[in-house]
Amino acid sequence: MKLEEFLKTSLTAYHATDNCEKILIEHGFTKLNIKNDWNLIRGGKYFITKNQSSIIAFVIGDLSDYYFNIAEAHTDSPSLRVKGEQLIESTEGNRINIEIYGSLIHYSIMDIPLKIAGRVFINEDNKIVGKLIESNVNVNIPSLAFHQNKSVNEGIKFSIQNDLLPLAGNAESVYSFFDINNIIDADLFVVPDVKPFYSGINGQYLCSPRLDNLVSVWAVITSLCNCNPKGISIACCFDNEEIGSLTKQGAQSSYLPVVLEKINIALNRSNLDYINACEKGMILSIDNAHAVHPAHSEKSDINTKVEMGKGIVIKHNKSYSTDGYSSAKLKNMLKSNKINYQDFYNNSDLVCGGTLGLFTSSLLSMNSCDIGIPQLAMHSAIETMMSKDIDSLQKCCNVFYNTFFNCNN
Ligand SMILES: [Zn+2]
Repeated sequence: MKLEEFLKTSLTAYHATDNCEKILIEHGFTKLNIKNDWNLIRGGKYFITKNQSSIIAFVIGDLSDYYFNIAEAHTDSPSLRVKGEQLIESTEGNRINIEIYGSLIHYSIMDIPLKIAGRVFINEDNKIVGKLIESNVNVNIPSLAFHQNKSVNEGIKFSIQNDLLPLAGNAESVYSFFDINNIIDADLFVVPDVKPFYSGINGQYLCSPRLDNLVSVWAVITSLCNCNPKGISIACCFDNEEIGSLTKQGAQSSYLPVVLEKINIALNRSNLDYINACEKGMILSIDNAHAVHPAHSEKSDINTKVEMGKGIVIKHNKSYSTDGYSSAKLKNMLKSNKINYQDFYNNSDLVCGGTLGLFTSSLLSMNSCDIGIPQLAMHSAIETMMSKDIDSLQKCCNVFYNTFFNCNN
């Protein structure tokens, strides 16, 4: 699957997980069930999903050493979450009742094509089954006209409960956008439906919804497909990073530790082996980084300006899992593989955003580095980055999976 198709069709975390599953199956990975005993072999490639929205894939190496190398990213993006099936009536057309999911730039979602997507639950063979779904038609959120809001260009504050409701026409309910009957309940979102496009004189910029963090998901999954580790290489794509990761399928849950324990049991390894595998391995927490904005360089650190096109960003802040040791280990790896990198420090007057890194590194007590590639307009409906940085990230992940760090810190 090409990156552009991945970005366009991964409308929600459910769709992103489904796309990852397709890529992995195409590359010979076997799907496991958490409730079963696992029969794992050297050289085997496996994956497991949770809640249809988080996925962990792993490759068992030749086991000439035993360690866990974990690359992680998040499947969710800021959007509008649908509140029930009932529409809000209006003579101009009924509107969809929503709340905000994550820290969305509100104005960016106005006047662009949107879709309703997510999953619906129905009864099938005496079980409740979740089906992925997306509306065939678009909806949109019309702005208030300039003439009715002449101060609009001096800054806008939206009422989420009134201004950000998508217009649905004469639909009777949210469910009438779908062909499935007897829906019991659902997890639905209104999301940008915009095809990725290239801009700039040489097409150097890639612009798309959900670049944060689907480019990282795409890189950790595709680069896992052709790695050859000594120990065990693991790709984790977690849902719910945008709302704090504290869900059963999120990075703060027991999902990853449980999967690692099951791998350990299936390979007949001891508890001590498990502890050492965490100690010797490394985590790479991957999420996009802020490039210096051409109109607002004052928002970046005084000394370090992260630039698009200049490769991997190593993030340093108390909100990140990177420390001097993990950064030094990673820099050695990047240097010896001729992969460009740059350091990120936050402007000390601004609050730095968090990632998955601190959650998983503290849960497993593992060395970890927070990295990403630079982008502009993070959390806008359409974000901007340079596609050559995505190649660097893919290469970085592939080398990472094949590296034995033998950490001793
Ligand atoms: Zn992110």
